[in-house]
Amino acid sequence: MTRLVDGRAIAAASAEQTAAAAARLRAARTVPGLAVLLPTGDPGAAWYVRSIERAAARAGVDCQVYRLPEPVGPAEITGRLAGLSADPAVHGIICQTPLPPGAALAAVGQAIDVAKDVDGANPASLGRLAAGLPGAFPPATAAAVLEILRHEDVALRGRRAVVVGRSVVVGKPTALLLLAEDATVTICHSRTRDLAAVCREAEVLVAAAGRTGLIGADHVAPGAVVIDVGTNPVPGGGLAGDVDAAAVTGLAGLLTPVPGGVGPVTTAMLIQHTVQAAGHAAAR
Ligand code: NAP
Repeated sequence: MTRLVDGRAIAAASAEQTAAAAARLRAARTVPGLAVLLPTGDPGAAWYVRSIERAAARAGVDCQVYRLPEPVGPAEITGRLAGLSADPAVHGIICQTPLPPGAALAAVGQAIDVAKDVDGANPASLGRLAAGLPGAFPPATAAAVLEILRHEDVALRGRRAVVVGRSVVVGKPTALLLLAEDATVTICHSRTRDLAAVCREAEVLVAAAGRTGLIGADHVAPGAVVIDVGTNPVPGGGLAGDVDAAAVTGLAGLLTPVPGGVGPVTTAMLIQHTVQAAGHAAAR
């Protein structure tokens, strides 16, 4: 039996708590503020930013979107991020990808104050996470994976976890968060030999490769918890995950669907991080 995770319900539960925390801050005269920098006209990014705006509005977070006129270079993006970092009304900052040619998130992200880096774009945030230091946020997607596991009461201590993907925005921070929960973690990538055999060792398998249907029945141990982070565009519209859901249904114990799994929880984590950052700022 495979149980499907309802990511929208988990996001709603988290949003309710975030809205209550935001209301307490507003009552104490701190309005949580989120700034989203949108440096390209990419339609997928624009759609995603609208969903962030809606989630922010529901939680009582003031969300400002800064659409930069194209073409825009790294210097201008860095300058805008530095300006937002210095603005006391802004508690959370997102630099939305994709970035224009010549701009790299690891470079421009350094202009985001770590205390406001609610999507873990500044490499210093990942460094703090790796060092086990407080005061930084993991990328929202990595936080969403852990939020789902927590919500579903998946025990992690001492268990075998495999993360497929080693990007700085998903794979590595997810592995670090699993490690912090005392899981025994393996990270796979495009050079991993016999990916299926390594994945079959997983009691918790996180797929974040960006390859439609990469994870099939050969990759999943009976009863494994499978978290599908992949969001891959399907020709003709829609999204597909990295997991072949039909192939692993009946084999996995728990599975996140795409869409409706990690995606909505990611947005909820961005808003939660912003309200937490506002709370930290108010306490200073
Ligand atoms: P990425 O930067 O392209 O990284 C992909 C990783 O997967 C790389 O480490 C790559 O290995 C590895 N990989 C690729 N093909 C592989 C294969 N055949 N076998 C094993 N490993 C393989 O992508 P990303 O930004 O981390 O995103 C990953 C996926 O998550 C994408 O589908 C993206 O759209 C999705 N995503 C979803 C959310 C959400 O909220 N749901 C948020 C962010 C991203 P190498 O390092 O060796 O190249």
